[in-house]
This record gives sequence, structure tokens and C-alpha cells, in this order.
Amino acid sequence: MEKSKREYIENSTHIHRNSDKIECNELSTQTSVFVDNSVDNSAFSGDFVNKQGFKERFGDISMVIKILSKKSIIIAVLCCVIPVFCIFAFAMSKEVAKTAGSDNFYYGTIVVDAGHGGIDGGVVGSLGIKESDINLRLAKILEKKLSENNFKVVMTRTTENSLSNIKRIDMQMRKDIIVKASPIAVISLHVNKFSDSSRRGVQVFYDDLKVGKDFGDFLQSYLNENINSKYSKRSDYNAIAGDLFITKCVKVPSVIVECGFISNKEDERLLMQYSFCQDLCDRICQAVCILNNPE
Ligand SMILES: [Zn+2]
Repeated sequence: MEKSKREYIENSTHIHRNSDKIECNELSTQTSVFVDNSVDNSAFSGDFVNKQGFKERFGDISMVIKILSKKSIIIAVLCCVIPVFCIFAFAMSKEVAKTAGSDNFYYGTIVVDAGHGGIDGGVVGSLGIKESDINLRLAKILEKKLSENNFKVVMTRTTENSLSNIKRIDMQMRKDIIVKASPIAVISLHVNKFSDSSRRGVQVFYDDLKVGKDFGDFLQSYLNENINSKYSKRSDYNAIAGDLFITKCVKVPSVIVECGFISNKEDERLLMQYSFCQDLCDRICQAVCILNNPE
């Protein structure tokens, strides 16, 4: 028997659990800069020019050499500086052109949020794979596909680390990134787990204020048709509203996509397949493109 939506949300979403007690390792941001001060200039200060009589005999020539040397140094410096300046100017012009054209070129910014990270690995499958790693892989694929379709993408994380070792602060930092990005939509990627191991497929959640209802409904129906019917032989999921922090950071359509059930062996295997991840992200991207360009 199908569970009620409320009961289902309570049982199947894991993103509400109080994780404030989670402690994770310090973020690894070590960098090393090597400065080589060991260049030996002694070879250029030899005795040759100080030998007695050299000035008397070759004074004029020495002056000429000195002048030539100065010119050579100036020419050498110019030879080095000009190409560097040209390369810098070229790079800057490209950047300026990209920025200047962005208003026309980009449809808008979409925030892609890879759920969890750091010691908060999210749900873990029977094969030991962590949700946080799957989310990150999916987020990177989706980032690429959206970028290729002229959306500017802002990621909340691009490494396996979380943004903070305290869950509450991590979530606040994600919100700060979302607010700063002024996106047209937010897509948060997660993996689900449920007590009934037969449950499988992709499910979409949106905010309980229903700002993301149209986006959520369309995305769910599109994924039912193109992913769930193909991989899990079901196409009857409805997008579900919930009191979900990440969907309420800004008042634009924001959804959580639970990309499969790690508690189901077939889904777990799919989530580990690059081809499935590609297919799923393709479909999410297509749904976004259709909504953005309905004609
Ligand atoms: Zn999750």
C-alpha cells in the first residue's frame, strides 16, 4: 500500500536529521610555494674585467661593450615584457568580452548543490559507496551539461569536503552561496534510502511554499517518462512538497532531486554507473531547457 506523502517524507528523506553533532576533519587547503633563492651569480663576477691593464688597453671598447650590454639588457627585458603583456591583455580582453556578453549569452544562473560532503557522507549503500561522492559526481556532470546549454552554473561544493565541519554552518554557507549567485533555479542532488528495499527510482521534492511546484512537477514527470520508466519500470511518482532548507534559500524554483534509492540493489548499481549518471543529468538538463524555452 502506498504511504501517505507526509509519512513518506518523514520516512524517506534524510536531509532533516539533526547532524549538528557531526564533527569532520579540517578542510585540507594546504598549499606550498617554493621560492628558489639559490641562484649562484658568482660566475658573472669573475676576475676577468678586473685584470690590470685591461681598462687602459681596451677602455674604449669596454665602453662600447657596456653601452651595448645596457642596450642588450633593455632589449632583452622588452622582449620578455612585451609578449607577457600581450598575453595578459589578450586574456583580459577575452574575460571582459565574456562578462560583457554574459547578459545576452547566458540564460541565467543555476545553482547546483551536491548534497552532504566531508565526514557527512549521507546515506551509505551495501557496497560501501557514500551518497556524498555520488552527489558530487552527478553535480559535476550536471554542471557541464547546463554550461554547455548556456546556463551559468554555481556549485556549492566542488570537492569531497563539506563547507564547514558543523552541519548547521555548512548549510548556512550553502545558503550564502545561493543568495549571492542570484540564481533562476536551484537544483540540489541527493540519494535516497528507505526501509522498503523494493522502492526505487528518481524523486523530486520542492519547497512547502510551493515556489518550486511547477518546476518540481514538470521535472518529476519528465524524469518519470525518460528515466524511471526506462530503469525502474515505474512512472507514477509525484513531486512532493516539504519543509526543506535548501529549497527555501531564495524565492526562485528550487528542487531536491533524490537520484535513486541506495537501499535498492539495482538502484545502487545504477548510481555507480557513469552512463546512468550521464543519462539522468542529460534529462534534468533537458527539462530545465524546456522550461526555460517552452516554444
Ligand atoms: Zn542526502
